Amino acid sequence: MAGSDVVIVGGGIIGAACAYELARSGASVTLLERDELAAGASGRNIGFFGLPWDPVLDPMATSSLQMYLEVTADPPVPVHFDREPIGTLAIAIDEDDAAMVRDEAAAAGRAGLRAERLDAAGLKELEPEVTSDVSEAWLFHEGRRVDPGALTLALAELARRAGATIRHHLPGRRLLSRGETVTGVVTDDGVIECDTVVLAAGPWSTGLLRPLGIHIPVRGARGWLIQLSPPRPLLSHWVEGSARTLWRREVEPVTAGEFSEGVARDDIGAVIQPSPDGTIVAGTSREPALAWSAEDLHVARAVAGCAIRLLPALADAPVLGTWAGIRPMSPDERPFIGWLRHGLFAATGHGSEGVILGGGTAVLVRAMVQGREPPLDPTPFDPLRFG
Ligand SMILES: Cc1cc2nc3c(=O)[nH]c(=O)nc-3n(C[C@H](O)[C@H](O)[C@H](O)COP(=O)(O)OP(=O)(O)OC[C@H]3O[C@@H](n4cnc5c(N)ncnc54)[C@H](O)[C@@H]3O)c2cc1C
Repeated sequence: MAGSDVVIVGGGIIGAACAYELARSGASVTLLERDELAAGASGRNIGFFGLPWDPVLDPMATSSLQMYLEVTADPPVPVHFDREPIGTLAIAIDEDDAAMVRDEAAAAGRAGLRAERLDAAGLKELEPEVTSDVSEAWLFHEGRRVDPGALTLALAELARRAGATIRHHLPGRRLLSRGETVTGVVTDDGVIECDTVVLAAGPWSTGLLRPLGIHIPVRGARGWLIQLSPPRPLLSHWVEGSARTLWRREVEPVTAGEFSEGVARDDIGAVIQPSPDGTIVAGTSREPALAWSAEDLHVARAVAGCAIRLLPALADAPVLGTWAGIRPMSPDERPFIGWLRHGLFAATGHGSEGVILGGGTAVLVRAMVQGREPPLDPTPFDPLRFG
């Protein structure tokens, strides 16, 4: 097969955004997706876009916002992306939750985002269907809805129009190297030689690195979502019950001993989206993904229970479906972006915020791969920072 300047392995939001940025800068790009585009977490997440409160991640998210607003203003395929935030209602059921929500409000304030505490009447007026059995409620003036699968397709399509070759159902089987330099990717259609491989294979990235003796601690964490069809609109804001804290917790590995004894490691927290199509999508959970295919539905049931606790009217809403995705987690909830070896660049480990960070990641990848001044400090994202 003909060579490319860059081969991107993985057709999720990160791979597609990188293909878009690199192709429109004139690089010859081939993107390999072993399945369909957005087959991984990028097509299976809840589509929350909000600026993070981590000052290290904020510039990257701001850069994503700029890219997504541009791309979705005139997209090559239909993509929903709220032009303005619809707002997020954070609900604390008990005193522990309340302390966490107050911390979140303080962090949001430091990041320059507005948050206001609601009294019982304010909560009732804002979202009458939300339970009144709460210890505290806050309104954060952030949170857009994005259709993440459609955004991934749109970015890949724009990359294609800029000259990229998009190959789906073609896995990168192995990375080729000559000495210490990575020189291409082995596929079922032959070898593709290139100057740079960008590894954006989400939680599957580590499997391609192991034969080269490179280890980056990306761990898969499964998250469940459930889609419901209430007969009438129930919400107009995002609703969260301690979900942000859940996103921030590190996913510890499960030992064989714990596995053999059936130790469960599922954390559940509620985040509820009033979808533009009138349905409700509720999540989410976090558990180590030991098998790529989902084992059973008990976590999905618990997610539904958690959502019903916040929004009691959901109990009568028909279930349209439930699905899970696997987040590529890093131990510090910051992605791995940077050179692993000559010819091999990492763009993975975006955890719970891959959509929020995808566009900004691509802008950084493009600058670093092309040897230009990075638009933001890449040091916190060094893929070899854990040794
Ligand atoms: C339930 C849930 C809710 C979430 N909610 C949000 C949210 O609201 N906002 C947000 O920003 N983030 C959210 N996330 C996180 C977000 O989905 C991920 O961070 C993001 O999708 C990761 O993108 P990625 O491109 O790195 O990985 P993936 O989407 O996993 O893409 C990797 C791709 O690589 C392909 N691949 C793997 N191996 C190979 C190979 N050898 N050759 C070729 N292709 C290969 C896979 O098939 C896959 O398509 C959520 C995740 C989950 C699970």
